[in-house]
Amino acid sequence: MSNQYTMQDPTTQYTKAGPEFQQQQQEPGLQKKMNPVPDTGEDTYQGTGRLTGRKAIVTGADSGIGRAVAIAFAREGADVVLSYMPEEEEDAKQVLKLVQEAGRTAIAIPGDLKDEEYCEQLVDTAVKQLGGIDILANVAGKQQFVPDIADLTTKHFDDTFKTNVYAMFWLCKAAVKHMQPGSAIINTSSIQAYNPSPILLDYATTKAAINTFSKSLAQQVAGKGIRVNVVAPGPVWTPLQVVGGQPEEVLKEFGASTPLGRPGQPAEMAPAYVFLASQESSYISGETLNANGGTPTP
Ligand code: NAD
Ligand code: MG
Repeated sequence: MSNQYTMQDPTTQYTKAGPEFQQQQQEPGLQKKMNPVPDTGEDTYQGTGRLTGRKAIVTGADSGIGRAVAIAFAREGADVVLSYMPEEEEDAKQVLKLVQEAGRTAIAIPGDLKDEEYCEQLVDTAVKQLGGIDILANVAGKQQFVPDIADLTTKHFDDTFKTNVYAMFWLCKAAVKHMQPGSAIINTSSIQAYNPSPILLDYATTKAAINTFSKSLAQQVAGKGIRVNVVAPGPVWTPLQVVGGQPEEVLKEFGASTPLGRPGQPAEMAPAYVFLASQESSYISGETLNANGGTPTP
């Protein structure tokens, strides 16, 4: 079985999308019900101790990119607090087991990130039960397409901003108080921050906000020895895309317009988070690492 170090052709490393990619689930969806099931690194991510002894919070840790990040962090030696929604327990249980199999502590705390108290509870739990917080990976996100601004309700707009922007703000605010020098925050933006789709008005706007928030906070906390960076994925095969993130009919061509010609898999995002969390990126802060199949970015 190959892992992230095996040299191979990235255009054929994973399958292109096809008609079988057209599927729909109710939000937030379960990764285990997807066909094909995304690769979140279970059989492909090999750790080498790059985060030994670190204490991490990962949001959206049950599925997709957050799940790949949680698995990678654990295999690199970190203990992890896992945030996800109560409806996602089935996916989350598998991640809990995988973190434990990596020999690390996993603490599952389902809840709603739109609630400030829940965000604070995540940080409190890391501090009390893991003994601190060195890494905050804000991966959770909400994406629901709406073609016409006339149909974009205030509630919808609010929910997208609460999930994508406010939760990041609340978690960063709570975590920074406890972070020691050497700690890292990694937020999750998107290619949508620069190439917004007309049907993702609210979502794309939050992703631009995440980039700018991170560049500002990075400067604010640099003196404390805390680094803040961003990963900006392109089209990645995850539940988000099959629960109303895109119209079902476009999924058969998902990722086809990228230079690499295929969708990314969550396992291909995890190394970017590991790099930005580890001391290897010690002189990098306020940066956005684009992991998007080769699409040019500003
Ligand atoms: P995903 O559905 O696997 O993960 C999103 C997670 O967000 C869910 O599992 C859920 O646990 C969490 N979440 C959403 N609302 C929540 C709430 N109110 N409370 C608690 N948790 C909540 O999909 P993904 O694609 O892996 O998404 C991860 C991140 O990647 C998101 O920020 C998304 O915007 C970003 N992203 C994804 C793509 C892509 O193509 N998949 C592209 C660019 C950016
Ligand atoms: Mg999920």
